[in-house]
Amino acid sequence: MTLLAVNGGSPIRSQQWPLWPAPAPGALDALNEVLHSGRWAISGPYQGKQSFERRFAAAFAEFHGIGHCVPTSSGTASLMVALEACGVGAGDEVIIPGLTWVANASTVAGVNAVPVPVDVDPRTLCLDPAAVERAITPRTAAIVVVHLYSAVADLDALTAIAERHDIPLIEDCAQAHGARYRDRRVGTFGAFGTFSMQHSKVLTSGEGGAVITGDPALSRRAEHLRADGRTYTPDEPAVGEMELAQTAELMGSNRCLSEFQAALLLAQLELLDEQNDRRRANAALLDEGLGALGIQPQVSSPGTTERTYYEWAGRISDDGIGQIGVERIAATVAAELSGAAIYASYPPMNHNRLYRPATRSRFNGVPGLDLTGYPLPVAEDAGQRVVTIHHSALLGDESDMKDIVRAFEKVFTNHRELRG
Ligand SMILES: *Cc1c(COP(=O)(O)O)cnc(C)c1O
Repeated sequence: MTLLAVNGGSPIRSQQWPLWPAPAPGALDALNEVLHSGRWAISGPYQGKQSFERRFAAAFAEFHGIGHCVPTSSGTASLMVALEACGVGAGDEVIIPGLTWVANASTVAGVNAVPVPVDVDPRTLCLDPAAVERAITPRTAAIVVVHLYSAVADLDALTAIAERHDIPLIEDCAQAHGARYRDRRVGTFGAFGTFSMQHSKVLTSGEGGAVITGDPALSRRAEHLRADGRTYTPDEPAVGEMELAQTAELMGSNRCLSEFQAALLLAQLELLDEQNDRRRANAALLDEGLGALGIQPQVSSPGTTERTYYEWAGRISDDGIGQIGVERIAATVAAELSGAAIYASYPPMNHNRLYRPATRSRFNGVPGLDLTGYPLPVAEDAGQRVVTIHHSALLGDESDMKDIVRAFEKVFTNHRELRG
């Protein structure tokens, strides 16, 4: 008799999960205000009111207790702006984690530099500082650290390495909005913190991004880089005049956040801390319930004082997974849970099918872009054994977490149905 939902058995749950993204109470009014404001972008004429983009930048900087925020059109744009503001360019090497979203490699190639993937720590799944140290060469121009899934990387060790070698550290916080390390928000430890506000992230406007920095000169470079070489004028312009001045100090590209996105983010930011708290409480239930099934939860670095969850992540034991494979396990569990967002980990960067520089002629003849030769044993193991649960499922209640645990238990108990 068949028991698993993928084979036609009845699922653990048919109830839907909380909708993600969900609008904050002020979202509709904020969007409506932009709609009728006569200004849908910062590159439109001034209408006598501070742009939503500036208001969001001020709120996001204050949220982090840091001097400067420059919003961008995406997390990808924020990484490219940060790299270029730090002076990274043609021929430089940039150290990136061996386990992360493809954008960490493609953005480095996108500023004409060469990504150097480095292995991760098996407990945190974030950059292994000892491996970073070994990968540094005279051409290393930046280190990009990612706070992956629900962990904060070892910032004590990584900031020390960056300082000792005088290399800028860029913190990619696309998966860690609001997390704290030694009581400070992440994103404030390196030259830049970069953020994505894409649909799946814990703070979102559909698409969007931002960089933060404590350095006014870096912030000014970032402003130019994201607005075609323009910055806000120092003085308030007359209504109907442009608020962006063409300084020609530094050539840029258009990577601006629209006024709709900025207004939405301003409203959504109000929910962030409370939603992060809820996810953290539910994640503790999963640590316990899934831990009892032999799934080892991801661990955050010792200096972490407030953890956030983009994904709950855990490593499935060999007996749980057998020959089945983590992708199949994830899909089988999801089928028990009316399609809850349960996935396998990212693949390691040396075997990432999305990273294919040879398919784009702009990279013809650029040496060093092929990552297949890098040994990344820990990232490779994670790619085969780590399962992740998207944070939208962590916004439910205790009984929702019990459903998730029961679904894994059922799949592990009946895994023989998946063989053959
Ligand atoms: C989502 C993400 C990005 C890219 O952000 P986009 O807004 O999709 O361009 C970069 N790095 C990490 C770690 C991410 O999770």
